Amino acid sequence: MYYDSNISKQDGMKMDQIRLTAENETIQGDGVCRLDGKVTFVWGLLSGETGLCVLEKQDKKMNHARLIELEKASNHRILPVCPYHDVCGGCALGHMTRERELAIKEQRVMECLGRLGNSPKGSYHLEPITGGEREAYRGKVEVIYRNGFGYVGRNGKFCLVKNCLLMKPETRRLLDAIEKMNPQGLRGAVIRTNYRGESMLVLSHDGKLGKVKGEALAEYGVTSLWALKQKPRMTHALDGEITHLWGATTIEEEICGLTFKLSPKSFFQINRDIAAKLYTKAVSLAGLKSRETAIDAYCGVGTIGMLAAGAAGQVFGVELIPDAVEDAKLAAKKHGIENIDFVAGRCEVILPKDEALKKASVIFLDPPRKGCGRELLDAIAKVGIPRVVYVSCDPATLARDVAIMKEWGYTLTNVAPYDMFPQTGHVETVVLLSREKVDDCNR
Ligand code: SAH
Repeated sequence: MYYDSNISKQDGMKMDQIRLTAENETIQGDGVCRLDGKVTFVWGLLSGETGLCVLEKQDKKMNHARLIELEKASNHRILPVCPYHDVCGGCALGHMTRERELAIKEQRVMECLGRLGNSPKGSYHLEPITGGEREAYRGKVEVIYRNGFGYVGRNGKFCLVKNCLLMKPETRRLLDAIEKMNPQGLRGAVIRTNYRGESMLVLSHDGKLGKVKGEALAEYGVTSLWALKQKPRMTHALDGEITHLWGATTIEEEICGLTFKLSPKSFFQINRDIAAKLYTKAVSLAGLKSRETAIDAYCGVGTIGMLAAGAAGQVFGVELIPDAVEDAKLAAKKHGIENIDFVAGRCEVILPKDEALKKASVIFLDPPRKGCGRELLDAIAKVGIPRVVYVSCDPATLARDVAIMKEWGYTLTNVAPYDMFPQTGHVETVVLLSREKVDDCNR
């Protein structure tokens, strides 16, 4: 935190400064304070802390203020290990103890389920949050290049970050090597570093990429090299035209004893250790019996479905990205898993029309942040699938979808939060919703 010397003195404080005390904090690391009754967020102020702040943004409902000087510190405060913590914004919770971080994440899940999911605390079985390593856990990173690698910072502008501690050491070494090469036209990189320390590297550019030699990068663990011509108004890091430059076209990943060959656009969980625990929980919550049919919706490369196939009669996976479906089919074949089929398309379009939906005893839902939405959930409830195992990366959309299923007579029985992205403002959750009877489904 820095001191703003342009502000002139008044009553022991600098002019324009206000003294705020946080009553609570959000999962984004914002201290929740009150200024004349109005909620005022101060990033970096922990619950119980007092600090001198300046107002930055005010609207009808809330204010945002910036912490200038901490006057009273919480026992939960730690010195962030990363020198970029205040400016980068990626690790919103790096200034608090691990205990506090886990408590906030658990609280966020409960709050959303209570407020938006019509499921107050105590109405379901809550498992304690599962956490893991706080650093070097990211198997995939997406970085911007502007004469050095970095991220979009807290102020919305590029922020150079040397040695991001969330990355694996192999990824960091590779980024350093690329920086030294400084290829012409480079705008960013997406790197997936696998369980063996090998990397798939996608170098993005906005026109023409200067020469990059795969052999030179192989020294830093690169086994697969791609170039991506970014779309003018790209919506995500791999939005554009992708060309294979050198090495293999896929990279192998391993989880729960299964290996997958991944294409650049195939989704694979970023934190392998926590994902393995989460998948195991999802499959155990499903309570599959050997004759039952299960659907793996939003299946990616089929991780959950393939793990469930060992316990189920038949599994049916649906995924939007065709490359991921191809990767899934190859993995199933390689592992000799014969009771699983995959199809490419949108779950909300394919599943309501599909026969498998009527037969299923369990559906796994693992949607992106926006959740599943009504179309698919209504179709699930209408055919009366008895068990729904929902894996979510956003407690708010999870809770919204839980409320929809509750309207249909489902009960939220189990909730298990996972700290998949330590230090950041994200939390993953697995829940089980069940409904015994199917005769009340003709709403
Ligand atoms: N269950 C997988 C993937 C989860 S991520 C795993 O754990 O690895 C969510 C996946 O949903 C991504 O692979 C994404 O491509 C896919 N997806 C996004 N929208 C979709 C839709 N409408 N229908 C089907 N799949 C979708």
